Amino acid sequence: MERHNVKLGALRTVEAIVPRRAPAGLQFIERFVGGAAMAFLTTANAFAEAPPAPPSAAKETVQTITSGPARASLLELYTSEGCSSCPPAEAWLSKLAPDTRLWKDVVPVAFHVDYWDCLGWIDVFARPEYSERQRDYGMAWNAETIYTPAFVASGAEWSGWRDGKPWPPAAATEGGALTLDVRPGSSLVRFQPSGGTKLHGKPAAYVAVLGMGMSRKITAGENKGQTQTHDFVAMDLQRIALKESGDAWVGQGTWQVVKAENPSRYAVAVWVADDSAAPLQVAGDWLNADAAAALKVALERNDSMSKITKSDEEWKEILSPDAYRVAREKGTEAAFTGAYWNNHDKGIYVCSSCGQPLFSSDTKFDSGTGWPSFYEPVDNHNVEVEGDESHGMQRTEVLCSRCAAHLGHVFDDGPRPTGLRYCINSVSLKFVPKDAKDAKDSKGEKAKK
Ligand code: FE
Repeated sequence: MERHNVKLGALRTVEAIVPRRAPAGLQFIERFVGGAAMAFLTTANAFAEAPPAPPSAAKETVQTITSGPARASLLELYTSEGCSSCPPAEAWLSKLAPDTRLWKDVVPVAFHVDYWDCLGWIDVFARPEYSERQRDYGMAWNAETIYTPAFVASGAEWSGWRDGKPWPPAAATEGGALTLDVRPGSSLVRFQPSGGTKLHGKPAAYVAVLGMGMSRKITAGENKGQTQTHDFVAMDLQRIALKESGDAWVGQGTWQVVKAENPSRYAVAVWVADDSAAPLQVAGDWLNADAAAALKVALERNDSMSKITKSDEEWKEILSPDAYRVAREKGTEAAFTGAYWNNHDKGIYVCSSCGQPLFSSDTKFDSGTGWPSFYEPVDNHNVEVEGDESHGMQRTEVLCSRCAAHLGHVFDDGPRPTGLRYCINSVSLKFVPKDAKDAKDSKGEKAKK
């Protein structure tokens, strides 16, 4: 079922990545690392369904975002830092920032997908749910493949940007009045359909926090050596269930942003959709200083919430005795005994405790020490360092930023370009080999351009 389309860029079968279903009350968060699908079971509910806020909460509102009377276009871009076809599409999207029609006529959202992480670069903005959103579009259109870069304009596939065409306007009908109250830690949505609007099923609201001007140096994969600047990046997406209240629909959500990079500016996009393909109404705006400050409070709170904490007993159930001793009790495996000190295969090394991607084979080198050694992590956010004065030595300990697993130590006698040597215990890692088929497809797609 794999096919290539020169015009559309890199393709991937929908069937191959159909979302997994989790038991009731739980959900799978699925990441593709090195071409392998890794599923983590979590109790986190990404789609909050809180009841409407009490009227007294209105005084906390720091900004209100409202739609115009006409229906605006929701312009979604599905993109990946790791895909060489995507930078032109992102540059096209960035040009909307100074456009006078922004927010009034068009509301852009860039969703970074995670299915190209297998090409050797972990996109920190990617979320499994964004890939799943694109898969849902693909399945609704009976498409065999999804791809990047891909634009979706008001629920329909659109490629006119390549030919210099303007984005397609939303259906000419009035959508209704949509407002979003931004509050510290929460949001309140109110949607009043216009008189002629016919609803197909119960409407729900979607709220996306967008980041602007986020620069990232790409050090591996297809875009190696580039510095990319991303705009309109979805840093959080929430689905908020709406309840009928008189002639309107209302609902409340909470900000659940996980901090990845500090944007130069924040914006918020909000839209209401029922079972139809196109949104009923769309709104968006830059966040004012008070709202951005309120969001930063939420950012810091949720940053710590994204960490994984377990009791010693729970870790013992998950980890082998060796992994527990090293990762949770700061032990060290004997040199030349681990599984990876002499591994030369291509792929990604993830945390053996929590699955977070940590190091790439692209930055692995032979240090002669008998431990796997890397000159940098896949992303500096994925590791943390602490001073370590144990055993009469002054060293710098390296930990997983997500679960605080002890990984090893970092020294300043590594090779260029960083001069660092991350000396890591094999047992704190799990190697995910790069999928040979994906690698082949990527080369084929590149060769045809
Ligand atoms: Fe971890």
